[in-house]
Amino acid sequence: MLAYRKNELYCENVSLETVARRFGTPVYVYSRARLISNYKAFDAAFEGLPHLVCYATKANTNYTVLRELILQGSGADITSGGELYRSLRAGFEPKKIVYAGIGKTIAEIEYALATGILMFNVESMEELAAIASVAKRLKKTASIAFRVNPDVDAKTHRYISTGTGKAKFGIPYDEAVAAYRTAAKITHIDVAGIHCHIGSQITTVKPFHNAAVKIEKLRLQLQAANITLRYVNMGGGLGIRYQNEVPPTPRELRDAVVPVFKGFTGTFICEPGRAIVGNAGVFLVSVVYRKNSAGKNYFIVDGAMNDLIRPTLYEAYHDIVPVKKTAARQVQADVVGPICETGDFLGLDRTLAVPEPGSRLAVACTGAYGMAMSSQYNSRGRAAEVMIDGSRIVLIRRRETYADLVAVERLGRE
Ligand SMILES: *Cc1c(COP(=O)(O)O)cnc(C)c1O
Repeated sequence: MLAYRKNELYCENVSLETVARRFGTPVYVYSRARLISNYKAFDAAFEGLPHLVCYATKANTNYTVLRELILQGSGADITSGGELYRSLRAGFEPKKIVYAGIGKTIAEIEYALATGILMFNVESMEELAAIASVAKRLKKTASIAFRVNPDVDAKTHRYISTGTGKAKFGIPYDEAVAAYRTAAKITHIDVAGIHCHIGSQITTVKPFHNAAVKIEKLRLQLQAANITLRYVNMGGGLGIRYQNEVPPTPRELRDAVVPVFKGFTGTFICEPGRAIVGNAGVFLVSVVYRKNSAGKNYFIVDGAMNDLIRPTLYEAYHDIVPVKKTAARQVQADVVGPICETGDFLGLDRTLAVPEPGSRLAVACTGAYGMAMSSQYNSRGRAAEVMIDGSRIVLIRRRETYADLVAVERLGRE
C-alpha cells in the first residue's frame, strides 16, 4: 500500500504529506484497496467450501473499516457487548457474528441472545450455565461452540500466545468431551460447533496444523458419542510481515488445516483480525524536536504510546520511514513520543536520515491493534483516522479535542 513516487511516500494515489497537511498528525491512514484485498484473500482461500470469514473486530473497530468489510460479505468475531454494538450499528448480519471471551457478563449475554448472533464461543462451564439460564429466561436457544485449548505452542510473543495449556483461555483439551456431553443435555443450548484460537502473529502453518489435528480428533470422538458439530472454527492469528517474517498466505493456512477435517461437511469459520487490517494501515507522525543525550540520538515525534502501544507492550517492531526522502546524513536514533514514560517509544536504534522538525515519519503496518488499543494517557486526545480510496481522502474519525477529554466527567461532590 505504501510506495515512494519521486522520493515522496504515497498510499494508493495520495501523498501522505497531503494527508498530514490536511488533517494534522498524529493520524492513522488506511488503504481501502488493501483492506478489501486482504479480506478477499481469506474468502477466496476457502472457495468451494461452506465457510464464513468472521473479521476479528477488536483489531480495528472503526465504523468505516467495518462497513467496507460488511460490503464484501464479512462476518464478525466479537469480544464484548461494545463490539457487538459497533458491529450491529455498522450493519453486520447477526447470523454472521460469533462471540468469544472468557468473561461475558449476564448483560452481554442477554444482548447477544436478543440480537440473535450465530453463536457463543464458550470458555468455561460456569459461562455455559449462565448462557443456558439467560436463554431459558428469554425463551431462546443459544447456539454454542466450546473454545477448546488444544495445548499447542504458537511460537509467538508470550502476551499473544493463547493456546498453550497454561493460558487463561478455553476449556482444557482433556475436559472437552465431558463439557460437550454436559452441554448436549441442556435445554435452550444448541451444540453447534467447536472453536480454537491459539494466538496471534503466528508466522508458520505448523501450529495451526497441530491444533487442527487435535480438534479433529475431538470432533470424531464427539461424533462417536452422537454429538455432531456443524461448525469448525479455527480462530484467527495469522501473522503479517512487520520486519522480515514470511507469514503463510490464507491459502497456505487453509491447505494446512482443511484436509485434516476429512469427513467434515459443515461450515468452516475463520477469525482473522491482524491479517485483514494490519498492513492496510500506517501511522503518520511529525517530528517535534531532535536531541542528543549521552551520545544517543532521539527524534521526538507527536505520536506516542497512547496512540500505538504495540512497541511498548509487545516489544513489537514497526518499520519507520520518512514521508519525504532526503539526502540528509543517516544516523541511529530512537523515535520516541512526548509521554512521561521511558517505555514511550515507536522504534529503537533506527537508522534514519536526520529529519527536519515538522517533517513526517510513517510507522508502517499499524492498521491492527493500533487505534483499537489507543488511550488518552497524558490527556492526549486520540488521533484522527483517514481512509484512502484511490485518489480520494476521507476522514473516518475526527481527532479528539480537549473538550472530548472531559466530556463524560462529572463533579464528584454535592
Ligand atoms: C484476537 C482474536 C482473533 C484475531 O486474532 P488476530 O491475530 O488479529 O488474527 C480471533 N479470534 C479470537 C477469539 C481472538 O481473541
